[in-house]
Amino acid sequence: MVIFKKAADIEAYLLSIRQKAKPVGFIPTMGALHSGHISLLQQSREKGDFTVASIFVNPTQFNDKADFDKYPVSIDEDKQMLLDAGCDVLFLPSVEEVYPPGDDTPVYDFGHIDTILEGAHRPGHFRGVGQVVARLLQIVQPDRLYIGQKDYQQCMVIKNLARQLPALHNLDIQICPTMREQDGLAMSSRNRRLTEPQRAIAMLLYQCLVSIQAKAGTQPFAVVQKECLDILKEKGFEPDYVALADAGDLTLLNDYDMNRRMVALIAAKIGDVRLIDNMVVN
Ligand code: AMP
Repeated sequence: MVIFKKAADIEAYLLSIRQKAKPVGFIPTMGALHSGHISLLQQSREKGDFTVASIFVNPTQFNDKADFDKYPVSIDEDKQMLLDAGCDVLFLPSVEEVYPPGDDTPVYDFGHIDTILEGAHRPGHFRGVGQVVARLLQIVQPDRLYIGQKDYQQCMVIKNLARQLPALHNLDIQICPTMREQDGLAMSSRNRRLTEPQRAIAMLLYQCLVSIQAKAGTQPFAVVQKECLDILKEKGFEPDYVALADAGDLTLLNDYDMNRRMVALIAAKIGDVRLIDNMVVN
C-alpha cells in the first residue's frame, strides 16, 4: 500500500494507473476504521478496481466543535486494517492540502435535503460534506465511489453533488449495505466512545427501525413513532428524530404509504455520543 499526503503526488501517481486502463475505486473515510469501512473496500476489490482509500477528519462538516475534537483517531490501526484488506493507496492529507489557503472552496446547494433530518439538526453539515467530497473527487478522480447506506441522507447529497458537477456525470456511485454488530447496532466510529452501559442499550435504535418496518401498513406511523420515542427517552436517549420518508427523494411522510418505497431514519444522543441509523421499510 502506497501512502500519499500531498494532493499533487497522488494525482501524478493515479495518472499512471489510469494510463494502464485500470478502473480506480475510491473509499473516502474519516478513519477510526471498522468492518463497515472495510466492507466498502472489499466491494471495490471484488469489482477489480485499483482501490484508493482516504482518511481525513473534515473540520468543515462538524457543526459541533466538541464532536470534532472528540472524533476518534487510530491511524496506526487504520493503516494495518487497510493493508490487510488489500488497499492499494491511502491518501492522508492535511487540512491545508484539502483546503489550500487562498483557494475559495465552492459551496453547493442541496435544496430540501439540506433542510430536513440531519440537515436540520446539524446546520452546515452537508455543506461541509459537499465541499470535502467534491475536493477529494477532484484529486482522486475515481471511476467508482463507494459509500455506505448507513449515512442515507449523505448518499443522497453525494448523488446530488454528482449531478451538479459535469466532471462527475460518469462517476459510478455504489451504495453499500450497512454493516452491523451482532446485536444489530450499526457499526460506527462513534461507537468507540460509548461507555459499557451505553453500548448495552445502543442497539435500541436498530430495534426501533425493525419495529417500524414490521408494523408498516398495520398501524399508523404516528403510533409506532411515539412508541419508539417513548422507549428511547425512557432508556436515557435524547432522540433528535424518528422519521419516515420516501426512499427515493427523502420527502418526509406522516404515515406509511405502501405504494411508495419508504425508509425509516433515526437519530439520538446517548450521553454525548450522537448515533444515526436507517432501514428501508418495504
Ligand atoms: P465515515 O468514516 O464515518 O465518514 O464513513 C466513511 C464511509 O463508510 C461512508 O461512506 C459511510 O457511510 C461508510 N460507513 C460508515 N459506517 C458504515 C457501516 N456500518 N456499514 C457500511 N458502511 C459504513
